[in-house]
Amino acid sequence: MDANVKRMLEKYGITAETWQFLNKEKEMYIDGAWSHAESGETIDVIEPSTGGFLTRIPSATCGDVDRAVLAARSAFEDSEWSRLKPNERQKLIHRLADALEEHAQIIAEIETIDNGKALQGCLDYDVLGAADLLRYMAGWATKIQGTTRSTSLPGENFACTLKEPIGVVAAIVPWNWPLNMAIWKLAAPLAVGCTIVLKPAQLTSLSMIFFASLCEKVGIPKGVVNIVTGSGSAIGGYLASHPEVNKVSFTGSTDVGREVGRFALQNMARMTLELGGKSPILVFADADVTTVAEATRWSIFYNSGQICSAGSRMYVHKSIYEKTLEALASVAQSIRLRPGLDCDCEMGPVISRSAQESIMGYIRKGSEEGARLICGGHALDGPGFFVAPTVFADCRNDMTIMREEIFGPVLCVAPFEDENEVIRLANDSIYGLAASVWTKDVSRAIRVITRLKAGSVGVNCHDPDDNSMPFGGYKQSGFGKDRGTEQLEHFLETKTLIFKVD
Ligand code: NAP
Ligand code: MG
Repeated sequence: MDANVKRMLEKYGITAETWQFLNKEKEMYIDGAWSHAESGETIDVIEPSTGGFLTRIPSATCGDVDRAVLAARSAFEDSEWSRLKPNERQKLIHRLADALEEHAQIIAEIETIDNGKALQGCLDYDVLGAADLLRYMAGWATKIQGTTRSTSLPGENFACTLKEPIGVVAAIVPWNWPLNMAIWKLAAPLAVGCTIVLKPAQLTSLSMIFFASLCEKVGIPKGVVNIVTGSGSAIGGYLASHPEVNKVSFTGSTDVGREVGRFALQNMARMTLELGGKSPILVFADADVTTVAEATRWSIFYNSGQICSAGSRMYVHKSIYEKTLEALASVAQSIRLRPGLDCDCEMGPVISRSAQESIMGYIRKGSEEGARLICGGHALDGPGFFVAPTVFADCRNDMTIMREEIFGPVLCVAPFEDENEVIRLANDSIYGLAASVWTKDVSRAIRVITRLKAGSVGVNCHDPDDNSMPFGGYKQSGFGKDRGTEQLEHFLETKTLIFKVD
């Protein structure tokens, strides 16, 4: 560990268990056992608030992926897991949730140190939210049902459908919510009886390595959950195209998702692709300006803007445009940038030096293309990867910053005059993940939400999070849903049964 990282950790104080975990050699969890990469290679992990070296994780090879997939296959076909009754599966998943809650502080510290995000939000949302999703899905383990049908076949018949777990699931997740997104991928397949090989992002694999130790502790049978760490370009495609994988569940960027989809199709593996977004916020003349501005602490500045559903484009009715810009600037300037472990932190650094450079590149482009910088627009001096909360006004839909996903704390605002115009502007994007409509007029809200092409639409709120609600995109934001009852179906096959009755 770099001396600056150590000093930072000592300054803010972390639990003894977190120290112990950070100082321990990291291994992958395959077939219920801990192992290094077969090549012995590792990847350096960088702490984003200091830019210093933190630890190393194994850099898996395709051979390691083979071991993990085969372990998952044999656990699925012929093991304690495949014979487990639904209520026993349910109990085990609840135990996993208990373990997450018991270790919530440690996991939140690990996640904050690895990813940079603010600790309190990480504890409440990422970790306890993940435990809540495990419990939500655990409840479904005992409620998977097929149906009976009346057929028009000759003679007497009995017909029904049987729901069966799909098999081995390959999950590939991004770095913005490392544990939380991984649990989005794990909870539903576990509930229905699948087995899993999960590859976290190489930038943020630590919380899932810790999570694997909890799977071991609570007695998830070997081979059911396998965690393989490594680079997406080296092993991601191999995992997605593995002939023993039945379902690929991917969250990440649209470009990589397209590639992963092609890999999955080689064997007709089913797939869920949760991809990028450029989500619009529509603010009508009767909206409360202060409420809209305050909501940006969540909708665009939370997690340093590294949110797939971030409300990164805001269209404001021209009658309240300047007033809204003032309120937005005042909120953005009040946001406290600190290392994530600082209890005063509202917004931490972005994930990496290259993410910081990419965001700064978009900010320069915004100014060059004629957007008006209202506040922020700079990176903070120092070794950490901080970017000031930034607001651009007078944006047009043909600007790069209005079309591409910046994935940073940058809000782009534009004026509009009427309802039809703003619906057209909001839908004018390749993405369709989320949107929100701010108005007191219920009829207007209903007219607008039914015309918006987005997977989640909030009225007077932007993408609040609840595990009972399905989440997933329209258009190039992907297909399939995570969470909610809708997700279960993506991990089930339907078998048609017909009995001829003598
Ligand atoms: P990313 O670059 O697409 O990476 C996502 C995952 O794919 C990582 O584990 C990555 O591995 C892996 N990967 C990279 N190249 C691959 C390849 N050629 N084949 C197979 N796997 C590969 O996305 P990110 O930068 O981590 O995350 C940000 C993106 O995720 C944004 O676009 C955001 O909108 C999206 N996202 C979407 C949702 C949603 O629910 N719709 C939620 C969160 C994030 P390595 O990084 O280890 O190389
Ligand atoms: Mg990291």
